[in-house]
Amino acid sequence: MAEIHYSDIRGFKYGCRRKWKYTSPLKYNLRPKMTPNPLSRGLAYHVAFDEYHKNGADPSVAFALEYRRIIARDRALGAIYDLEEVEDTLQTGVAVLAMYPKWSDENDTFEIVEGGIEERLQVPFFDNHTYDFRVDQRIRKADGTMWIHDFKTVKTMPTDDFFITADEQITGYLKACELKFGETYHGAIFTYILVKKPNEPKIIKSGNVSRAKIFTTPRRYYDAIINAGLDPVDYKDMLISLKKNVWFERFEIVKTQAQKDTQWSWHKRVAQMMLDYPDEDCYPSVTRMNCTGCVFQGPCLYEQQGSNPIELLKNQYVKSKAR
Ligand code: SF4
Repeated sequence: MAEIHYSDIRGFKYGCRRKWKYTSPLKYNLRPKMTPNPLSRGLAYHVAFDEYHKNGADPSVAFALEYRRIIARDRALGAIYDLEEVEDTLQTGVAVLAMYPKWSDENDTFEIVEGGIEERLQVPFFDNHTYDFRVDQRIRKADGTMWIHDFKTVKTMPTDDFFITADEQITGYLKACELKFGETYHGAIFTYILVKKPNEPKIIKSGNVSRAKIFTTPRRYYDAIINAGLDPVDYKDMLISLKKNVWFERFEIVKTQAQKDTQWSWHKRVAQMMLDYPDEDCYPSVTRMNCTGCVFQGPCLYEQQGSNPIELLKNQYVKSKAR
């Protein structure tokens, strides 16, 4: 039974067809031996949220452990990392996730259903194919309705809610959950996490804490005032304005039954096209947006020069495991 994943559908619909050929479980199903840094970071954040919600672990500790584990494993495989970037990612993750338990306590007005954290799920799709997906959390609100809760790490908070509202991936997941669990899934809650380190407030020559614009937390600023032996009342305006800095934002979208059904039928139609698509038509789409950071640049160049990249693919890539 072959698996169809949304990431595969997305790669086929919107991405470079050649890259899709390298990565799709329906084609070569490859990934590089080493995990690219943004992916390592994202994986480690997800482990941190899982550990916090499943086992009550400190998310910043869980993040540091997982991120260090991934980096050590990849370095043992020969990956070369910019260690300054690694250290910065580590410090940022630890600082951001240290704020998460308090924020989560104040904002999680739902209950995670039994076993509903980071589940790998599968539903029949068509012919001999299953639709395979993974949800961060399945949750029940106080009114009894079921929802999916999805975490997204971002460099800047989204300002245009069209893409959140129109998100195809989550619409398909909601329909797949309905098929799997036989219950209506009303919509999705997205929690965005800003991956940006809070800065340390500066002490200026006069001994006061700098009032220059700064991206930090009121707590850090308050601590700097106290450590400098100053009175927080004199910095009330700064402490109030720093409350506008947020590391976590939540958006909620409701999906109608028609939206879920329509999306599901589009997924099936695209998946059918993928199954019928021949290898030789997997042309490269060379654009700065597609190719910057593409982990298949090496074999792709081989193919562009008319060579067969088979040896390179064998040496530097491995078969992907379950997603
Ligand atoms: S390098 Fe560019 S053209 Fe080649 S596979 Fe990657 S995205 Fe496609």
